[in-house]
Amino acid sequence: MIVDQEGEEEHEREFWFKPCWSKEVPWKMSFLAWRVFKRKIPSDDNLRRFGYQLASRCYCCPNPRLDNLQHIFCTGSTASQVWGYFARSLGFNIQIRGVKQLCYEWWKKKPRNRMIRFLTHKLPMVILWELWVHYNQCKYGKESPSRARIIFKVTRDMVDCIMRKWPSWDPFPPNWNYILRRADLFKCSKIVREASWCKPPKGWIKINTAVKKGSCSFMIRNSKGEFVMAGVYSGDRDMEMIMLKECLSWCKKRGLGRVQIEGEQVRVDGDEQGLRVEWLKCDRRMNCIAQWLLDKCEGQNVVYRRVSALPKGFLYILSLEGFPHFSSLPRRDFIPVDNNQNRRWDPGGR
Ligand SMILES: [Zn+2]
Repeated sequence: MIVDQEGEEEHEREFWFKPCWSKEVPWKMSFLAWRVFKRKIPSDDNLRRFGYQLASRCYCCPNPRLDNLQHIFCTGSTASQVWGYFARSLGFNIQIRGVKQLCYEWWKKKPRNRMIRFLTHKLPMVILWELWVHYNQCKYGKESPSRARIIFKVTRDMVDCIMRKWPSWDPFPPNWNYILRRADLFKCSKIVREASWCKPPKGWIKINTAVKKGSCSFMIRNSKGEFVMAGVYSGDRDMEMIMLKECLSWCKKRGLGRVQIEGEQVRVDGDEQGLRVEWLKCDRRMNCIAQWLLDKCEGQNVVYRRVSALPKGFLYILSLEGFPHFSSLPRRDFIPVDNNQNRRWDPGGR
């Protein structure tokens, strides 16, 4: 018995508690939804249970009916029309019988993209909240029942939720159909960034290196991007270490105190042989010259001190290096501009 109760509570927490609380929905809305599910709302039927005598007449509908929790939040004519409006807009065919049943079916839906799923999940809390605000405004304030006012305010609250979720987007107008049309276009993509080989800063030289089994290559250029020296080392083991050591001592002899080493692998920056050494990581395409030299001279031991001595094709590769390469950054959510829909929204729903 106890186990069953705990299981029941676990289910309650998982299914009802969790969706209520989300960081994009204001706390007051989440809390109200939770109170509705727990029936802890001062509607007339609940007050009656505590012995209050009330002439029960709702305030939320143009033609008042019996006031109770289900009526205010779900089955009353105002509430059911609001739910019906949003359900239809999302293509849901949901029977409106009770507030828990309604939310249960609502949250079970599997929307077609991540943005529509977000809207679908947050809507019930926002709708419940605005139904409650509307009810109180009609009961204690001077407002008269208006389904359109609720729909407008729900939409405005949903715009706020969207802005909390995607703060870098331009704000949406409070027009539900427009928002849904845009949400249909929702995409997630990788943004692509241009990259190309860069000269080292003034006072530095740069060594590009490439490595494959048994051979490694280097290409040294100055801060104007001019060729200084290049070469390939081949041998059994540790050729890369030997090559770098010799490159650095060559730099030291010539008083070149600041060196960037660029390749597909990096190590920790620091002082080597009394030189300041910075390691830069780049992808294969940005490192194409060192890579090309390695492919050309694999297995050889050779050093080039003049451009004219380099293997044929160097100038061609050099010209390719000047072209930007493209690399991907982490994914980003966006809605592509649709010229037919952009800036065209009719301020309906009011
Ligand atoms: Zn009513």
